[in-house]
Amino acid sequence: MTSPIESFAELDLRAPLLAALSEIGYETPSPIQAACIPHLLAGQDLLGEAQTGTGKTAAFALPLLDRIDLSLKNPQVLVLTPTRELAIQVAEAFQSYAKKMPGFHVLPIYGGQSMVVQLRQLSRGPQVIVGTPGRVMDHIERKSLNLDGLTALVLDEADEMLRMGFIDDVEWILEHTPPTRQTALFSATMPDAIRRVAHRYLREPREVKIKASTTTVAAIRQKFCQIAVAHKLDALTRILEVEEDFDAAIIFVRTKTATVELADKLEARGYSAAALNGDMTQQLRERVVEQLKGGQLDIVIATDVAARGLDVPRISHVINYDIPYDTEAYVHRIGRTGRAGRAGSAILFVAPREMRMLKVIERATRQPIEALQLPSREAVADKRVAAFRQQVAEVLEAEDLTFFTDVVAGIESSHKADIHDVAAALAFLAQRERPLQLPTSTGPDIARLAAPRAESRSDREPRENREKILERRREFSEGHLQRYRIEVGRNQQATPKDIVGAIANEAGIESRYIGQINLYEDYSTVELPSALPHDVLDTLRRIRVKQHQLNIRPLDADEAKRDAARPRFGAGRPDKTKPAGNAAPKRYGSDKRGSTPGSFKPGKAKPRNR
Ligand code: ADP
Ligand code: MG
Repeated sequence: MTSPIESFAELDLRAPLLAALSEIGYETPSPIQAACIPHLLAGQDLLGEAQTGTGKTAAFALPLLDRIDLSLKNPQVLVLTPTRELAIQVAEAFQSYAKKMPGFHVLPIYGGQSMVVQLRQLSRGPQVIVGTPGRVMDHIERKSLNLDGLTALVLDEADEMLRMGFIDDVEWILEHTPPTRQTALFSATMPDAIRRVAHRYLREPREVKIKASTTTVAAIRQKFCQIAVAHKLDALTRILEVEEDFDAAIIFVRTKTATVELADKLEARGYSAAALNGDMTQQLRERVVEQLKGGQLDIVIATDVAARGLDVPRISHVINYDIPYDTEAYVHRIGRTGRAGRAGSAILFVAPREMRMLKVIERATRQPIEALQLPSREAVADKRVAAFRQQVAEVLEAEDLTFFTDVVAGIESSHKADIHDVAAALAFLAQRERPLQLPTSTGPDIARLAAPRAESRSDREPRENREKILERRREFSEGHLQRYRIEVGRNQQATPKDIVGAIANEAGIESRYIGQINLYEDYSTVELPSALPHDVLDTLRRIRVKQHQLNIRPLDADEAKRDAARPRFGAGRPDKTKPAGNAAPKRYGSDKRGSTPGSFKPGKAKPRNR
């Protein structure tokens, strides 16, 4: 990486912030953070240009948190974001960085949320407000948001706000805040209109631009896989299983915590894996590298810093489990393979919202990165069966089987069984520890969920595609669905759209696999595939809708009965708190499940059980 600043401690941040960062597992500041934090700490205005995913939130949140006066209960920092989702995300980031700062409050405000609730929350005295321009304007006009004590204002994703037509609102807000405030503007690109706003409202801003550097990468086979966070682990293990020419791999993640977690998970799945991070002693790190070189370890999960300069010729694969901050880090990472004239493969996991970063990397490395088709369940099974056959063949060849032949003959005669059936039973026993087939009860195959849209449209194998679609419909219409309870309901202003959106985007479950949703006062129930994989459930538990963690769990039989029988909360009454055009029915879900792949249509507003 480029940054000469190697640790957050060098940045003179308050102790509680450093403590929080170390708990979260950030090891080193990203380039934009290293460049911006000192300026913002010094109270200067700032114009920051860097791609999505480079860590801009912490670049402004950390120094501004450092300057907050916790004894005051009034808004001191205002962050404007183009969308509701971003407002929530940024607010959550502030909350996590400030977790060791008692008395700190941050409030996201955005359209579509109840005014009454927002007014109540505003009266509690949050020091940081994160909001969309329209709603912030509303509150300024109603005088429910008093910005007299505002010391800093951030325009996050300014180019996006421009694109969405918010720039006049943004200027209006700038004019209604104290001129003494510190202002920071962040943007992935700097169109003229944004530059004009910057010139007009920023005072002698420091300019920080994290340039996508251009480098040519040696002959390393590069691929990417678009995948939701919840499916990364499953995708990784499939890839590890079927990749050709696999010798050893280094897997890059963003945090120290993630290195340990992923190493544990891979070990539990039978891989010889270990973490490599900056928390480990030099001695321990050296041992891991030696073991990787010597073949006692096949997989090392590392952060950028810990893996810097690592030179292990047998590394055949670099897997970017978390996308890097910048192209330079990417180039450093993939340079860990293809060493000493050998061939190397680099695989990049890209979450849907990071697709722009992928383009930047392609441009900078001047090489197209091909889409990787995840191996299907069947492909993994084929691979395992082939290995099993090979083992059997070797035993037939090399071992003296006289004793075992007698045992089998005994089984054959005493059970009057066909010798093929006996062999099948033995094969069954032999594979128990390591099944030849992947379980099929775990909902849709991620190989299909993960397939990029453009790919699935390809007509290479039209017959097979049709088959797959039909199979998917069967899976769905045969009702391998179950009702789950989630801890957010009408009182939290949750709408089915929010719920479907969160489940689809964050857990990577396509909306067509999301069945009916029943909203109650303080919780809801939703139909989802009955056997969700563990890590998907884990993700679903942690996801938030309207800032409430879903804590999802399956309904037991009694609850399910009650759910089917209870009248819906507020059924039949129009919902006044919702914006026009979003008058939500009380019971939702498409009746013709799976008939239109990828689309979710709310059902008719007709309560059941009347
Ligand atoms: P941007 O605003 O530039 O798109 P974000 O601020 O959303 O980027 O950060 C992207 C991701 O990187 C987040 O998941 C965040 O937690 C993580 N991240 C940010 N800074 C660091 C860091 N210094 N070390 C590890 N992870 C980080
Ligand atoms: Mg951002």
